[in-house]
Amino acid sequence: MLNQNDLRELMDYDATSPILSIYLNTEPTKGNADAYKLRLRNMLKKINAPKDVEVVERYFEHEYDWSGRSVVIFSCAEKDFFRAFPIEVAVRDLVYYENHPTIKPLTALLDDFGGYGVVLIDKQGARLFSFHLGELREQEGVLGETIHHTKKGGASAVHGQRGGTAGQTRYEDQTIERNMKESADFAAKFFEMNKTRKVLIGGSDDNISLFRSQLPKAWQSLILGTFPISMTASHSEVLKKAIEIGEAYEQEREAKLVNTVITTAAKGGNAVTGLEETLTAINNRQVDTLLISKDFHKEGYHCPTCGFLTDDPAEPCMVCNEKTVPSSDMIELAANNVLRFGGDVEVILDNPDLEKVGNIAATLRYG
Ligand SMILES: [Zn+2]
Repeated sequence: MLNQNDLRELMDYDATSPILSIYLNTEPTKGNADAYKLRLRNMLKKINAPKDVEVVERYFEHEYDWSGRSVVIFSCAEKDFFRAFPIEVAVRDLVYYENHPTIKPLTALLDDFGGYGVVLIDKQGARLFSFHLGELREQEGVLGETIHHTKKGGASAVHGQRGGTAGQTRYEDQTIERNMKESADFAAKFFEMNKTRKVLIGGSDDNISLFRSQLPKAWQSLILGTFPISMTASHSEVLKKAIEIGEAYEQEREAKLVNTVITTAAKGGNAVTGLEETLTAINNRQVDTLLISKDFHKEGYHCPTCGFLTDDPAEPCMVCNEKTVPSSDMIELAANNVLRFGGDVEVILDNPDLEKVGNIAATLRYG
């Protein structure tokens, strides 16, 4: 399971020769091994690293079991360095061959799907799960006092009241409150121990709000979402819900980012949209964050010496004045250039607003 130590090793990787970084989506529900191997082969065609390609193909032929949703690989055959991380969340296909491992997408994955703490709550107790990158790391449970439904007086005759208040005695209320408090304390300890960074709560609306109010403020602020679910749900059902919420949250974050970039560019602020302006900003090394639609590819031209990009075959390199050469995917080179000069790349999934402005946009550095 990929953790911070793996990430640190990659960050500290001392690359004196180029290293191949591969992100491959292999969701079993969306395709089979043959289809994914073919796609990988096409992605690797653009890369001139025969030894690494051989190592990677051997891994997919003999080691990878194709049961996971994604796999991330770093290979530098020259230095005998090879790391493969099967991951249970979806990644977007990317291949980079650079003088450093491309770990930005991996840090984004850890941000989005690392350290999930999930609680299923009812009036008597809680079930707790710790998921990391789509895998179960730990689970525990806590069970309080049984709620005895001793209906007294005329309360049970009250109709039309929701949520079990009808017929609920003061004694029951106190028991429920004690149980909730105990569950919340237990959950807080569990979150702490499992280095939880995002909290998700499953149960009925009533129970969720009772539990939430007992949870220490620090953990309340980390609640990513809530969802209805049965107390007896399997851990894979729980995980499915948690990932759904995580993905929806991520899509919303992307939508907000796209919106901000488009609005800022329209006002003449520190942002650009569309291919031409974005390429200019990349060539000028002004890009802070590059936004590209997931399936946006485009042929173009690049300077073999400095990486200058243009969609005009007649235009020589603005920096070296050299003749540019054709590239089968200028967008991939654009992403590489941005990463190389310290910027970020966000691959945006299904966003019609970004499609409308040409599938590419960027925020610019100040000054
Ligand atoms: Zn040049």
